[in-house]
Amino acid sequence: MRDVTINAGEQVRRAAEIIRGGGVVAFPTETVYGLGANAFDELAAARVFEVKRRPFFDPLIIHIANKGQLGDLVTDIPPLAEKLTDRFWPGPLTVVLPKKTAVPDIITSGLPGAAVRMPSNNIALQLISAAGVPIAAPSANLFGYVSPTSAEHVRSQLGDSVDMVIDGGECDVGIESTIISFMGEQPTLLRPGGTALEDIEDVIGKVTIPANSDLKNQSPGRSDQHYATSIPLVLVDDITGINDVNAGLIALAPNSDIGDIGKFTKVEYLSSNGDLREAACNLFAAMRRLDNSGVGLIAALPIPKTGLGLAINDRLARASRKGVHI
Ligand code: AMP
Ligand code: MG
Repeated sequence: MRDVTINAGEQVRRAAEIIRGGGVVAFPTETVYGLGANAFDELAAARVFEVKRRPFFDPLIIHIANKGQLGDLVTDIPPLAEKLTDRFWPGPLTVVLPKKTAVPDIITSGLPGAAVRMPSNNIALQLISAAGVPIAAPSANLFGYVSPTSAEHVRSQLGDSVDMVIDGGECDVGIESTIISFMGEQPTLLRPGGTALEDIEDVIGKVTIPANSDLKNQSPGRSDQHYATSIPLVLVDDITGINDVNAGLIALAPNSDIGDIGKFTKVEYLSSNGDLREAACNLFAAMRRLDNSGVGLIAALPIPKTGLGLAINDRLARASRKGVHI
């Protein structure tokens, strides 16, 4: 992450006061910028939904600064969940566990589980600690649009409707957390994200991947159309079929096998050498740049489905409005 502004401490103090007073603050995390409110204050949480124009059926992830806070939110931490959080917290991993009644239903959209994560970004951790309460925070963008990975992305979409935006530079991971639910018999992947599924399975063994129809019941916000650019995005196996005069292209890395890229108005490579971490980090900013570049269509080439590639494919498939089967 680039250097934060020198008065980061002062920004965090002000932001914590706003959170305690029932306000909403956009803040950096290592995944994407979040739009935060006191997780125990249902009116503050309602404002998050309002600002994002997010439907109430789409629950919020609760962010904590230390493991002790998990016990305030959930009734049970099964051994496999403990193993996972020991290994990957702080970091881009969210666990869904049975919620305590203290967690307002508006946060979980009436579901019996609460989704909780400990971010690794220092500003996020300082903010949660200073606020003294867990912070419920979805991504700080309008519902359905590409997630924000810089303070500028937040300001351009949410502007004056939030009480404060903390500028912490660009996000390190750049893609949302991996969500694992412990609400059923087996650990279940609700969303691929910034912690690779292979690494998770190394720690807890096989994770169930639900069918898309099941997924919608367990994790209602995982709608087919999400992370969408305002102009159409299509996933293609190769570029031969794209003959639009004014199209943009997203590809993993420069590669002569791609073919004649000269026909595209603008090309965004997610990484110079095919590194999937770098690609995940650049994905949303690249989608926004193409969206604002004046092209009429965005074509995206497939990304390998290993490591963070699973999450990148998931976001591109949802942005393409086709829905996905991971
Ligand atoms: P966002 O905060 O926008 O990155 O999205 C949060 C996503 O996490 C939601 O759309 C759900 O898919 C999932 N989620 C959050 N809370 C819960 C929960 N209590 N149970 C199941 N899934 C959840
Ligand atoms: Mg989101």
